[in-house]
Amino acid sequence: MSRATFITLFACKLAAIGLAVAAVTLPDRRLWVEASLLFFGVDLWVLYHLFIPSAQGLCRNFTRFKTTHREVWLTIDDGPDVLDTPLILDLLDRHDAKATFFVIGERAALHPELLTEITQRGHEIGHHTQTHPVMTFWCASLDRVHRELDQALTVLRAAGVRPRWFRSPVGIKNFLLPAALAERKLACVGWSIRSGDCLSRQPEQVATRVRRHLRPGAIVLMHEGPSVPPAVRVKAIRLVLEALVAENYRCVLPKPDQLR
Ligand SMILES: [Zn+2]
Repeated sequence: MSRATFITLFACKLAAIGLAVAAVTLPDRRLWVEASLLFFGVDLWVLYHLFIPSAQGLCRNFTRFKTTHREVWLTIDDGPDVLDTPLILDLLDRHDAKATFFVIGERAALHPELLTEITQRGHEIGHHTQTHPVMTFWCASLDRVHRELDQALTVLRAAGVRPRWFRSPVGIKNFLLPAALAERKLACVGWSIRSGDCLSRQPEQVATRVRRHLRPGAIVLMHEGPSVPPAVRVKAIRLVLEALVAENYRCVLPKPDQLR
């Protein structure tokens, strides 16, 4: 969060307290309502920007890229996975597609050879925290945020990977995240199409959903490994790749200056 945003939120809280004092002194019921709206409105704003993945108020995150071609950025989260990753790499080769794998540090540490395989086959690796702390990332301390970033960076760098992209767990932000990312030269990447593969039981449904929302410059969010129900694992990615071919779309890795 920027200093200006923090000062604005703090000023709103102080103004709400001032209105509440005035409401008691006068007394004035309308002032009470205005004080309550302002006081709790700040909390709602903060909650929205912490938990809504596309929100930009606390942490800038890219949700699309600029292109005039029928291109999308396929991103695959939560790996690497010893079963899924090799199959997905073969599928990507077969469809002449490139993807970014947002890997979890502790899973990458178990299979560093998969990181090498991913990069050698022309794909990219992004940072997806060390432990994927879905429930606690929003309130993690500075020390915890740094550990989540640095431990995964150590794993990735040991495999020769210098990531430039970061994706927070399920898109949840943290007040301390922007500065921590900037220190490590990482940029936060969200998505424009959530495939829903972690919640679906039908891979066809996942592909249909992605196909319905396709547009040039979209960032497609998919997953691999145990995050995905067995019936959907890998199959959904295959069907999405086939849908992209049918719609004459290519999977590319955008350049930093294309991101929006
Ligand atoms: Zn994830």
